[in-house]
Parts: sequence; structure tokens; C-alpha cells
Amino acid sequence: MSIDLETRIRDAGLRVTGQRLAVLRALGEAPHSDADTVHRLVQREFDGFSLQATYVVLGALTEAGLIRRIEPAGSPARYERRIGDNHHHVVCTRCGAVADVDCVHGAAPCLAPSSTGGFAITTAEVTFWGLCPDCQLDPMDYDSTNEHQEHDTERN
Ligand SMILES: [Zn+2]
Ligand SMILES: [Zn+2]
Repeated sequence: MSIDLETRIRDAGLRVTGQRLAVLRALGEAPHSDADTVHRLVQREFDGFSLQATYVVLGALTEAGLIRRIEPAGSPARYERRIGDNHHHVVCTRCGAVADVDCVHGAAPCLAPSSTGGFAITTAEVTFWGLCPDCQLDPMDYDSTNEHQEHDTERN
């Protein structure tokens, strides 16, 4: 983290704006956030910053290679600042929590496919699925993720 965020944005060829800085800070604070979460965090600094504007900033930062977009099946796209290391993710099948999994073999792609069909492979995107530590502790509501949320609201 020796290079400051402003320099990173400039080096990526983008203009430095307060919103772009705030989005990067939000993702530093809460990695693997979806656009809604980023929006909420940035709104603390920029009152009236719209969800639409959040998507625009996230899109620009992703395109510039400053953040990485991941899209686990059945979950909204999430964004993170940890880029370029070909790491993977483990996703909780119940609550959707996401954690990083280091690339086991070092360099990308860390998995060697048995047949590439003539493609020159550059990356492998692997998603591991399981129960996060919190969900393992809670034996209730083992059925479905959607119902889990509703039960939570009823209990509170
Ligand atoms: Zn969980
Ligand atoms: Zn990650």
C-alpha cells in the first residue's frame, strides 16, 4: 500500500475525482461488496450520490483495472481491490459471505485444463462453495438462503 489512491487512479489513466476515491476507500473497508453496499458507504461522504452513479464509477474502475468484478452464481456482482494475483473465492451457500482463497500454485492460470480446445489460457476462475464459520455455528434454517433472511426479520 505504498502508492496512494490518487496516484493509482492517475496511473490507470483516469481523472481523480472524490467519488472515485470514495468508492476505492469503501472497497478497502469492505472487500467483495456489491454495488448497494458501496453505494451506502459512499453516501456517508457524498449525500445524494445515486446508485446509478455508483455503477458508473464501479464500471470505470473495473475497466481501468483498478478493481476486480466477481460474479458468484446467484449473487449480485461484487467488487474488490485485490487484483492481478489470480486469487479465488469461497462463497457461503447460505448467507452469501465471500472470502479470498489464495491461488495454490502461484502464477495464473493455477489450474491446467486437460484440453484447451486451441485456446491460449490466461486465467482460471474458481469458486468454492460451502458454509461460512458463522453459518456452521447456527444449525437453524438449513434449507434455503431466501427463507433464512425472512426468518431473521421475524425473530428480531
Ligand atoms: Zn454464511
Ligand atoms: Zn477476493
